[in-house]
Amino acid sequence: MSEKIPVTILGATGTVGQKFVRLLAEHPWFEVAAVAASSASAGRTYEEVARWRENVPLPPAIGRMTVRECTGILPGRILFSALDAEVAGPIEQAFASAGAVVVTNARTHRMERDVPLLIPEVNGDHLTLIDCQRETRGWKGSILANPNCSTAALALALAPLHRAFGIERLFVSTLQAVSGAGYPGVPSLDILGNVIPHIGGEEEKIERETRKILGTLSNGAVEPADFPVSVHTNRVAVVDGHMATVSVGFSRRVRPDEAMEALRDFRGSARVAGLPSSPTPPIEVDERVDRPQPRLDVDRGGGMAVTVGRVRPCPVLDLRMVVLGHNTVRGAAGQGVQIAELLVAEGRVDVGFDPEVSLWDLAAL
Ligand code: NAP
Repeated sequence: MSEKIPVTILGATGTVGQKFVRLLAEHPWFEVAAVAASSASAGRTYEEVARWRENVPLPPAIGRMTVRECTGILPGRILFSALDAEVAGPIEQAFASAGAVVVTNARTHRMERDVPLLIPEVNGDHLTLIDCQRETRGWKGSILANPNCSTAALALALAPLHRAFGIERLFVSTLQAVSGAGYPGVPSLDILGNVIPHIGGEEEKIERETRKILGTLSNGAVEPADFPVSVHTNRVAVVDGHMATVSVGFSRRVRPDEAMEALRDFRGSARVAGLPSSPTPPIEVDERVDRPQPRLDVDRGGGMAVTVGRVRPCPVLDLRMVVLGHNTVRGAAGQGVQIAELLVAEGRVDVGFDPEVSLWDLAAL
């Protein structure tokens, strides 16, 4: 096995698309074979049309690629979608129906019954929903969804607590970075020196997606976790990193030390833990009184680790804590790549390589 698996990025010019370009440029298994965006960008080179915002140089080979339209035949069986949610739905469906495995960051398909909404360490088993999807929709390919950027970090931090102690009530207030709104995003005169206590649709997304991710797979569908969730969302003048202050009620009293032990010990399955994009550990507990902080902690585990701090008793519910995750890495492109790695590791996508060659050999390329 000497070649990498070709993949295409849809919406490659935007904030999340650029993160995909950066993460895939040196990926051990995948190679970017095409970049696609709107018709306004198509036909010109990537370096001409993408306003590169990453703090590393644009990989030259990708910079020279001609941007394609999101139609027709695009190379590779795996498509990463970082499309604007207003246009993502029909484009992603067309490619999935034609045989592509689409890993999407858009909200469009997340809550559909047969679409897995994945955090590999938490609910990798929900991947099997794509079998029902292919059967009921008659598709050759499939759509797998990444959760909303705040939900990705929040649900990862809650998973070990829900498993160990059973969450009964949840109260969340977020402080979300401006990069979560894409590029150019929130106007500087609205956000500098300010906090905006509203992000359209975000509270509902966090409430329902968290319950789906922490839900149980049974008879080809996910039974959502059965606890009430109350969410407030705020946009703050931070570049990268969504923070959430969280209070949790459990089925019994839980001490902070028990909760921290559950968080520290949490690991995904051995298969997930072995994927190139999986951080070890997925959750870092920081007991310093003033952590986590976006500027200091957002890049832990290459942006894939979630940091939890200030785990302490709550006089209203049982425990309170602070959760921080990188919104475009764990909350978007990084976890999108990790989901595709899991698909490949589970042999669930025909990527055109010799099946006799083990995936772990691929990892060593
Ligand atoms: P963005 O910066 O606005 O990028 C949007 C991308 O969609 C661009 O590549 C754009 O291409 C493309 N696009 C727009 N209209 C199109 C059309 N008609 N046909 C084809 N392509 C089109 O947005 P983003 O922040 O990267 O977000 C991308 C997706 O990920 C969204 O669905 C968003 O909700 C989701 N998401 C974002 C984050 C985050 O932290 N930013 C996290 C999780 C999920 P052009 O450059 O050619 O216009």
